[in-house]
Amino acid sequence: MLETAQLVAGTWSSGGAGRDLIVVNPRDDSPVTRLPCSSPEDVALAVRAARAAAPGWAATAAAERGATLHAAAAAVEAGAGELAEIMSAEMGKPAGEARDSIAAGVGTLRQYAELGPVHRGRALAGDAAATDLMAVEPRGVVAVITPWNDPVAVACGLLGAALVTGNTVVHKPSERTPATGWRLVQLLAPHLPDGVLNLVNGDGPVGAALAASTVDVVAHVGATTTGRAIAAACARTGAKALLENGGSDPLIIDAGVDPRWAATQAALGAFANAGQICVSVERIYAHRALAEPFLEALADEAARWRSRIGPLVDRRLRDTVDEQVQLAVKAGATVLRGGSAPAGPGAWYPPTVLAECTDDMAVMRKETFGPVAPVAEVDSFEEALGRAADSPYGLAATVLTRSMSHAQRAWRSLPVGTVKVNAVFGGAPGGAAHPRRGSGQGFGYGPELLDEMTATKVVHLSAPPTGW
Ligand code: NAD
Repeated sequence: MLETAQLVAGTWSSGGAGRDLIVVNPRDDSPVTRLPCSSPEDVALAVRAARAAAPGWAATAAAERGATLHAAAAAVEAGAGELAEIMSAEMGKPAGEARDSIAAGVGTLRQYAELGPVHRGRALAGDAAATDLMAVEPRGVVAVITPWNDPVAVACGLLGAALVTGNTVVHKPSERTPATGWRLVQLLAPHLPDGVLNLVNGDGPVGAALAASTVDVVAHVGATTTGRAIAAACARTGAKALLENGGSDPLIIDAGVDPRWAATQAALGAFANAGQICVSVERIYAHRALAEPFLEALADEAARWRSRIGPLVDRRLRDTVDEQVQLAVKAGATVLRGGSAPAGPGAWYPPTVLAECTDDMAVMRKETFGPVAPVAEVDSFEEALGRAADSPYGLAATVLTRSMSHAQRAWRSLPVGTVKVNAVFGGAPGGAAHPRRGSGQGFGYGPELLDEMTATKVVHLSAPPTGW
C-alpha cells in the first residue's frame, strides 16, 4: 500500500494529526493508499513556510519562473505512466483516460510556463513629467484545494498559474486521490525553491483549516457546499475566494434533430468518466416530436457504454447516486436502462437512463455525479430554454438544434458560463468562463486565471519638485 507524506519548507514528513484514512480501489475494494492526515499545526507551518518563501519567489524573474515550470512539466511527463497507474487505482479512471488527463495537465503547465512571463500590466497616459502605470504583482500565498475527478489536470492548472505568477502555494489534494496528489508534488517540487510549493494532506477539516488560515487566495475546485463554506471563511480572513464548483448542466434536444445522433451526444455527455465530470450532462430536455426514438437510441447507447466506463470513485458516492435514482423512480420516473448497483465488490454503477422525469426530482435539480441520464419531454424549444435556465447552478449547457435562430437565442439567454451548440464536449483551448450562481466565481482556467492570481497596483511616479 502507498503511504502519502506532507511537504513543508522542502522537508517531507508524515502528517501529524494521528488520524489515518485508507483509500481502496473502487474496482475491487483492495487497499491502495494510507493517508496520515496533516494536523492544524502542520497546516499553519505550511502556510508559514509559503509566506517565508514568497518574497524570494516573487522577486525571481518571470522568465526564470517560466523555465522552472517547463522543467517541472517535463518531470510530470516523464512520470506520467506511474502517476496514471496511481490515479486509476485510487479513483477508477480507465488507464488510457488517466494517461490522457495527465497529458492535458502537462499541456496546461506548459501553457502557463509560456504565458506567465508575458503576462503584463499597462502604462497610463498621465502627466508628461510623471510615469503612471498599472503593475501586476503576485497575491502572495495561494491555497490550492482540489477534487478527485480529474485530479492531475485540475491541480496542474491552478498550481501552474499560481506559481508562474510568483505566488507560493499550499496544496491540499482530495482525500479520495491522495497518492496521486502526493506523487504529482513529488515530481514538481524538486524544481522549485524550498517552501514555494507545500503539500498538506487530509479531508474536509484539513481543507477547512487551510481555508481559514492567513493565505491571500483560496482556489477551490469541488462541490458547491464546500465552495460556500470556503467563501464564508474567506469573508472572515479577507482572502480572495476563487471557486469552480458543481453544476446541473442541461442538454436541450430541439425538434428536427436526428434522434440517434442526439442519443450519442447525450450518452457521451452523461456517461464519460462515469458521469463524474463537472460539465457532465445532468438533465435532458427532449422535444416530444422525437422523444420516443431518442429514448430508444439512448437506452441502446447506455448498454454500449457499460463496458467502457470505470466504477464510481467509491461507495459513498455510489450510495448518493443510487439514492437520487431511487427517489426519481418513486416519484414516477421510468428506468429504461441500468438503475441499480450490482452486487459484488467495488463501486460499480451501470449507465442509467430515466424517462418521464420532472424538474422537482433530485436527479434533475441537483448534481448527480454518476452515469445517469434523466430525460424530460418538452412541447417547445421555449419551454426547454425556460426549464434549463431554472436551476441553482450556472456552469454550462448544450443545445442540439438545426435552427440558427434557436442556437442564437440559446447562447444569449442561458444563465451559464459555457454554452455549447451541437457538441457536448470539444471547445477550443484557452476558453475560460465565469461560472454563475452555485457553480462558483472567477476564472478557474485559461489565460484569465493569471489575472486572478495577480493583484494590480496603480503607480504614479512624479519627479521631485525642482530646488530640493
Ligand atoms: P469537494 O468539495 O468535496 O472536495 C474538493 C476538495 O475540497 C477536497 O480536497 C476536499 O478535501 C476539500 N474540502 C472538503 N470540505 C472542505 C471544507 N469545508 N473546507 C475546505 N476544503 C474542503 O468536491 P469533490 O467531491 O472532491 O469533487 C466533486 C465536485 O467538484 C463536483 O461537484 C464537481 O462538479 C466539482 N468540480 C468542478 C469543476 C469545475 O471546474 N467547475 C471541475 C471539477 C470538479
